[in-house]
Amino acid sequence: MIRLEARPYREKRLSELKADVVKCTSALGRKPKLRVVMVGDHTASAIYVANKEKMAAEIGMDAATVKFPETAAPEEVARAVAELNADPSVDGILIQRPLPKSFKEEDVLLWVHPSKDVDAFHPETVGRMSLGLPGFLPCTPAGCLKLVDFYGYDLAGKIACVIGRSSIVGKPLAQLLLQRDATVLHCHSRTKDLASITRQADFLFVAIGKPEFVRAEHVKPGAVVIDVGIGKNAANKTVGDVAYDDAAKVAGAITPVPGGIGPMTILGLLENTLAGANAKIKP
Ligand code: NAD
Repeated sequence: MIRLEARPYREKRLSELKADVVKCTSALGRKPKLRVVMVGDHTASAIYVANKEKMAAEIGMDAATVKFPETAAPEEVARAVAELNADPSVDGILIQRPLPKSFKEEDVLLWVHPSKDVDAFHPETVGRMSLGLPGFLPCTPAGCLKLVDFYGYDLAGKIACVIGRSSIVGKPLAQLLLQRDATVLHCHSRTKDLASITRQADFLFVAIGKPEFVRAEHVKPGAVVIDVGIGKNAANKTVGDVAYDDAAKVAGAITPVPGGIGPMTILGLLENTLAGANAKIKP
C-alpha cells in the first residue's frame, strides 16, 4: 500500500515556483500579489488563511489578508473587493469561506473579477474550466489530479468515482476527470447502495465532509484512493473522509490527512496567483 504524501511534490514544486516568482518579480518590477478577504474569525479559516500566507511568503509572493468583523455588511466587503479588482498591482483575490449568513453565495460568486479569480469560483471561470478553455483551475480538484500525475498514474480509460457533488470540489473534479479521459461515476448523498458503485472504481475521490466515512467495503482491491476531506474524528484527531487504516487493507494507495490534498490546494492557489501576475508581463 502506497501512502500518497504531498511532501515530495510540494518540495519540488515550491522550489520551481520560487524561481518563477523571481523571474516574474523582475519582469513586473514588483512581487506577485495575493489578497485574501476574510470576514469574522472562524478558527479553521484563520488557520487555513495563515497557512496560505505563510506558503506564499516562502516563495517570495506578497500575500496578506484583508479582515472584516463578523458584523460587516456584505456591501462594505463587496466595495473592498471592487477596490482590489481595480488595483492593477493585485494579481489574485480569494474570499475565504464560510461567510456569515447575511452574505448570499450567488452574489459573492460574482464579486471577484475573473482575471483575478484564483479560487476559480466565478461562473465565468467555472464555464471556461467545463469547456476546457484556458483559465484558472479550481485549486482542490486540480491538486487531486496533480498528485495522481506526480505518482505516475494514468487516468485515461480508467473508472474514476467521485463521491460528493459540491461546487468547489466534487463537480469540477468530475469535469476534470472527464477531460482526462476517465470513465466517471459520480455519487452523492442520494446515491443508493454506494459501496456497489464505489467498488467499481480504479480511482476513488472522496469529498463528502464526513470524517472516516469511507471504509474497506467501499474500495476495489488495489484502487487509488484520494481523500479530500478534512475533519475531526471522535477522538478529536484531524482525519479525512476515509478511514485510512481500514481502507488501507484493500487499497493500492491512499492520500493521508493531513499531508495529502491540503498542501496541494494551497500550491494551486499560489500557481494561479503567479499565472495571474505572469499574464500582466508585456512581451
Ligand atoms: P459539501 O458539504 O459542500 O458537500 C458534500 C457532498 O458530499 C455533497 O455533495 C453530498 O451530496 C455528499 N455526501 C454527503 N454525505 C454523503 C454520503 N453519505 N454518501 C455520499 N455522498 C455524500 O463539502 P465540500 O465543500 O465538497 O467538502 C468536502 C470535504 O472536503 C470536507 O471535509 C471539507 O473540509 C474538505 N475540503 C478540503 C479541501 C482541501 O484543501 N483539502 C478543500 C475543500 C474541501
